[in-house]
Amino acid sequence: MSIPDISRAKSAELYEKAKTYFPGGVNSPVRAFKSVYGTPLFIEKGDGSHIWDADGNEFIDFCCSWGPLILGHNHPAVRNKVMEVMQKGMSFGAPTALENELAELIISNNRFIEKIRFVSSGTEAVMSAIRLARGYTKRDKILKFEGCYHGHTDALLVKAGSGLVTFGETSSAGVPKAFADETIVVALNDKEALLKAFADFKDQIATVIIEPIPANNGLLLQSKEYLYFLRETCTQNGTLLIFDEVISGFRVGFEGAAAYYGIQPDILTYGKIIGGGLPVGAYGASAEVMDHISPVGSVYQAGTLSGNPVAMAAGIAQLSELLRPGFYEELHAKTADFVKSIQNFVAQKGYEFKVFTIGSIFWFAFTDKDTISSADDIDPASMLKFKTMHRELINRGIYLGPSGYEVGFISSAHTIADLETTKTAIFDSLDIVFNQ
Ligand code: PMP
Repeated sequence: MSIPDISRAKSAELYEKAKTYFPGGVNSPVRAFKSVYGTPLFIEKGDGSHIWDADGNEFIDFCCSWGPLILGHNHPAVRNKVMEVMQKGMSFGAPTALENELAELIISNNRFIEKIRFVSSGTEAVMSAIRLARGYTKRDKILKFEGCYHGHTDALLVKAGSGLVTFGETSSAGVPKAFADETIVVALNDKEALLKAFADFKDQIATVIIEPIPANNGLLLQSKEYLYFLRETCTQNGTLLIFDEVISGFRVGFEGAAAYYGIQPDILTYGKIIGGGLPVGAYGASAEVMDHISPVGSVYQAGTLSGNPVAMAAGIAQLSELLRPGFYEELHAKTADFVKSIQNFVAQKGYEFKVFTIGSIFWFAFTDKDTISSADDIDPASMLKFKTMHRELINRGIYLGPSGYEVGFISSAHTIADLETTKTAIFDSLDIVFNQ
């Protein structure tokens, strides 16, 4: 049975005020809750797996700041390290030992990169990686996949047109058509389209960029075989392969999707978890490729706050926790049990609802399909059901990202009791969605 809506009076008041300051009342579009309730919840604090909104409502949080908070909110190790470093000043625009420390922690535990550059967001990491690939190969065109998101850099705000292989169409006003003409877009998991693109644009494609675990448009898991094929095709064509691991990096394992699938990409991009909740991104590659970056190489990239000491401190503290033996095994086992219970429930009830999962990522999909590996496989009409589910879950104290295209994350702070409470709320919400 539906239960009454929670009180949202304070959030509503804050939102009205916010609309006078920010376009749409927010500093990033999805936060506006447009595809669910219509007005956002304003969050006041977080601790472990729980968050509290401005009206005092408490939620178990499965958004986890869209992925960075793999240890949950306000983890003491991260908080203490940040506070310690902050005592000494917050930015110098000069090198600090903390940058070396975070780089050492990453590089010595990651087979896939020899050198790294820290930036301040995932978007910046990807933008720089693309420029590096173009500078390295001396080619202009890039290839991306429909259903992958790589941040809001111009070259990648491009969506597929109609046809197997298309020059992209801009997906945002303000992106010159000429930029989109340099970006080729093909469907995920489609070998024929990829080969056609390489045939049509022989010796012109600088880089292929993919989320090896596409997690921004549902969870569009790719087969290992397809990713190998991608690797091979890039190698044969002198094209650099970029794995955008802004979500999957440090999430499916310390070495991310590259290790999960056993594939060496040419450039990797990171964000989210690498910064422990503070604004950090990074890109890395072999020393030979990375040495094309300024000041040793001719590809320019810079940042006033790149390698910011406070952000480095958060990253060091968080990544050190991830290296503890058994960290990922425990997190993944907890997630698998959670997912399995929901899968059993829906199978028993005969509901057209699937949970796709990898590591500690999950995605709820209203579908009868057993696999969903390309953007076209998702029925937009199913999002109405998600909308109902989201509202029912919010009313039961469960916070999911406010869109059915978004994945959920489980952190080490989620307890078995949290997950039990969540399962009950999910079962009740699904009963409402399917029986109303
Ligand atoms: N790449 C991927 C795979 C992402 O998921 C995101 C953010 N969701 C980005 C890039 C952009 O990162 P940011 O929002 O930090 O700019």
